[in-house]
Amino acid sequence: MAIYTLPELPYDYAELDPVINPQIIELHHDKHHAAYVKGANDTLEQLEEARDKEQWGAINGLEKNLAFHLSGHILHSIYWHNMTGTKNGGGGEPLAADGVGELADAIAESFGSFAKFKTQLSKAAATTQGSGWGVLAYEPVSGRLIVEQVYDHQGNVGQGSVPILVFDAWEHAFYLQYKNQKVDFIDAMWQVVNWQDVARRYARAKERTPLIAP
Ligand code: MN
Repeated sequence: MAIYTLPELPYDYAELDPVINPQIIELHHDKHHAAYVKGANDTLEQLEEARDKEQWGAINGLEKNLAFHLSGHILHSIYWHNMTGTKNGGGGEPLAADGVGELADAIAESFGSFAKFKTQLSKAAATTQGSGWGVLAYEPVSGRLIVEQVYDHQGNVGQGSVPILVFDAWEHAFYLQYKNQKVDFIDAMWQVVNWQDVARRYARAKERTPLIAP
């Protein structure tokens, strides 16, 4: 039995067009995300086999694969829901009038202003070297929001931080449409952010017990 399963997209392939074209969404979800799900399940099976046979020669590689594939599955699962078409309310910025005032306040408190936050996340995503993500995360020790620049899917992350808005900066996320213009893709991403979804994730993340409390 597979432990992890590929979630359905919450919309059809054309939802985010023209910011992200349908071909990219189809390949990205059906092929790339699916591969991370399979990779996580396969790695868990291989670890079970290692335990049963008491053969630990591949432990380093297996643990690395587990972190990579599991993190890829988790980030992509969040990514699909973080976006919605412009005709369905995507884009803009979080406003109290739209019922996402708590998120708007947290962004202002943590970054100084929405504009400063937007620039920081854009820069973090656009300057990933190789493959990575720009991530807005809730950091439960301080109770504040932070931006993280994630290497691959799993590196350069503060332990315990909870991703609530993720920008995929891997070439597979944009190359068919934007070619080498990663900055243009990241700039366009803001037109399809689903702030209602980000606000829900923020509210749920905040309910967590501070990690280092006894
Ligand atoms: Mn991706």
